[in-house]
Amino acid sequence: MQIRTLSTLECTKLLTANRVGRLACAKEGQPYIVPFYYAHADNHLYAFSLPGKKITWMRANPLVSVQIEGHGDGRGWKSVIVNGRYEELPDRIGHKVQLDHAWSLLSRHNDWWEPGALKPETSSVAEHFPNVFFRIFIAEVSGREALAG
Ligand SMILES: Cc1cc2nc3c(=O)[nH]c(=O)nc-3n(C[C@H](O)[C@H](O)[C@H](O)COP(=O)(O)OP(=O)(O)OC[C@H]3O[C@@H](n4cnc5c(N)ncnc54)[C@H](O)[C@@H]3O)c2cc1C
Repeated sequence: MQIRTLSTLECTKLLTANRVGRLACAKEGQPYIVPFYYAHADNHLYAFSLPGKKITWMRANPLVSVQIEGHGDGRGWKSVIVNGRYEELPDRIGHKVQLDHAWSLLSRHNDWWEPGALKPETSSVAEHFPNVFFRIFIAEVSGREALAG
């Protein structure tokens, strides 16, 4: 097996082709990581959530990492890591264009909202919580590929 570095363009293509990632944030030295759905566009990863631990932590410390991966041939794999900054897209005047943009990107997939709208306490869509749309500004990206054979 050989490992090679992916170019920035290859990383960008993998980010665009995927929609599931792992989002890591940190507060007071403690990391926290969750799987999430995203949509990649204009150097950002757009996403949707209910309020909760990750939103609270990212509001407190907007520096985050995201990891995504893809399968190669055989045992081969590709992996991309983004270092970036959390940016909330509030439902307020001045943010409407970005919010609509996030909505249109994410809603290209059926049931796109469901994982971000469920909490175990209710087991149903939590309508009484305000939705949170956010995006991760991609400050740095790196990628590696393992080639089987
Ligand atoms: C494929 C996939 C896609 C998802 N897409 C989204 C998405 O787009 N948006 C979104 O908001 N959520 C998504 N989720 C759910 C997400 O991973 C979190 O479970 C959820 O967002 C709650 O996170 P929170 O920080 O608000 O947790 P809270 O509800 O605040 O709960 C915090 C506590 O619950 C535990 N906890 C929370 N989530 C998990 C988990 N997944 N596994 C184990 N323990 C957990 C934490 O350790 C923590 O102690 C997705 C999950 C999967 C598997």
